[in-house]
Amino acid sequence: MSDANKRSVVVVGGGVVGAACAYYLVKEGCNVTVIDQGKFGAGCSHANCGYVSPSHILPLCKPGAVANALKTLFKKNSPFKLRFQFDPRMWLWLMDFARHCNTADMLRAGFARQALLDSSKAAYRELILGGVLNETEWEEKGLLFVFKTQQHFDHYAETDRLLREQYGLGAKPYNEQELLALEPALKPGVAGAWLYECDAHLRPDKLMTAWEQRLQTEGIVIREQCRFEGFDSPRGKVATVRTSTGPIPADQVVVATGAWTPLLKDQLQRSLPIQPGKGYSITMKRPGQCPTYPMIFEEHRVAITPMQSCYRIGSTMEFAGYDTTLREDRLTLLTEGAKLYLKDPFGEPVLEKWWGWRPMSSDGVPFIGALPAFSNVWVAAGHSMLGLSMGAGTGKLISELITGRTPHIDPAPYRVDR
Ligand SMILES: Cc1cc2nc3c(=O)[nH]c(=O)nc-3n(C[C@H](O)[C@H](O)[C@H](O)COP(=O)(O)OP(=O)(O)OC[C@H]3O[C@@H](n4cnc5c(N)ncnc54)[C@H](O)[C@@H]3O)c2cc1C
Repeated sequence: MSDANKRSVVVVGGGVVGAACAYYLVKEGCNVTVIDQGKFGAGCSHANCGYVSPSHILPLCKPGAVANALKTLFKKNSPFKLRFQFDPRMWLWLMDFARHCNTADMLRAGFARQALLDSSKAAYRELILGGVLNETEWEEKGLLFVFKTQQHFDHYAETDRLLREQYGLGAKPYNEQELLALEPALKPGVAGAWLYECDAHLRPDKLMTAWEQRLQTEGIVIREQCRFEGFDSPRGKVATVRTSTGPIPADQVVVATGAWTPLLKDQLQRSLPIQPGKGYSITMKRPGQCPTYPMIFEEHRVAITPMQSCYRIGSTMEFAGYDTTLREDRLTLLTEGAKLYLKDPFGEPVLEKWWGWRPMSSDGVPFIGALPAFSNVWVAAGHSMLGLSMGAGTGKLISELITGRTPHIDPAPYRVDR
C-alpha cells in the first residue's frame, strides 16, 4: 500500500484490546492513531491478575448462577457484591445475564471464548517469544485451581468432564499430598487442586509498557488525555472523529473503550449490554516463601499471581455502577482469603492497591465487529474477566475484518447485533 492509499484508522481506547488492534492494523499497512481519555494502559489492563488463561472457557452465566449469586448477596464478606442503586442499565443487564444462564447458551459462549482464547495464547507466544513485546515477565507454568474442601474438589470433576467432552480441555488432579509437593508455599489442610498446564501469566503493566513501545516503534501516534466525543458522519460514514483535543480524520474507527463503552450509547447509536464489574488487586514485594504457581482459591474466589518482580492477590466482583472508591474492606477480603491457604501470604512493602472495571458482557462473549449504524466503525469491547487473555486474538480479528482478509476464526459469535 502506498502512503497515500493507506487507510487511516483511529483506535479509541488504549487498553490491552485497543493496543492489539492498533498493532495488527499497522502490520496490515494502516496509518493508526490511538487515543485515550487518560493514560495509555491505565484502565482495567493495568493491574489485573495477569493470567493468559485458555482454561477459562466457561462464562459466568451458567445454570444455577443466579441462585448462587442471590445466596451470597446478603453475606457481609461475599466476593460477589451487588450495590443496590437506581440504574435501569444495570437491571436490564442483570435480566439479560439471567436469560443466558442455561446450558445451551453457556456451551455456545464457551465455544466462542475458546476460539479467541486459543488464538490469543498463540499470538502472545509469537509476539513475546519473537521479541515483538519485551520484558513482560511471561511464564508458562499453568494455573492451579485449589480447593479447601473435598466436596468442592470432587465436584469440580464434573466441570473437568464437561470441558474434556465438549472442548477437549483436561486438567490434572492433585490430591493434598501431591499438591503440597508441587507447591510447598501452600499450607497443609487443602483438599487438592486441578492444574491447567495450558495457562500462562505475565505482568500486565509491563505488557502495556511493551505495547506502548512497540506501537511507537511502528510509527503509531498515541494521544493521551484525548477523549472521544463523537463522529462527523455524513450518510452513516464517519469522516472525522471528534475529540476533546480537536478533530481527527479517519477512514475507519475501532471503539475499544472497555467498561466505558455503554456510556457512548448516543455516539455509537447502540446500547451494548456491558456493565462495569469492579475488581481489586493488591501488589506487594514477593514474600519469603513465594508461590511458584499462579493459583485460584476457588471457594474464596481469590487469585494469586507470583510475578518475577512482584506478587499480586486479586479478584472480587462488585456491580456498583461507575463507582470509583477504593474500598479497603474488599482488599481485606483478598488478604484474609490468601491467609487461609498460604504459609507466607504477604510480602512487604505493599507496592500498589488498585481497582479496575471489567467490561462485563451479559452473555460472557465480547463484542467484536461492525457497528450497524455506520459503514466504517468497529467495536472491540466487553471482554469481561478475560480481556488480557483474549486481547491479542481480538486485535488480529479486527484487523482482518477491516482489511477484508479471511478471518482466522469465525467472527459470527462476536457480532455486535447478535
Ligand atoms: C481484579 C481484576 C483481575 C483481572 N484479571 C484478569 C486476568 O488475569 N486475565 C485476563 O485476561 N483478564 C483479567 N481481568 C480483566 C481484564 O483486565 C479486562 O478484561 C481488560 O483489561 C479489558 O481491556 P480493555 O482494553 O477492553 O479495557 P481497558 O483496559 O479498561 O481500556 C479501555 C480504555 O478506554 C479508554 N476510554 C474509555 N472511554 C474513552 C473515551 N470516551 N475516549 C477515549 N478513551 C476512552 C479508557 O481510558 C481506557 O484506558 C481482570 C480484571 C480485574 C478488575
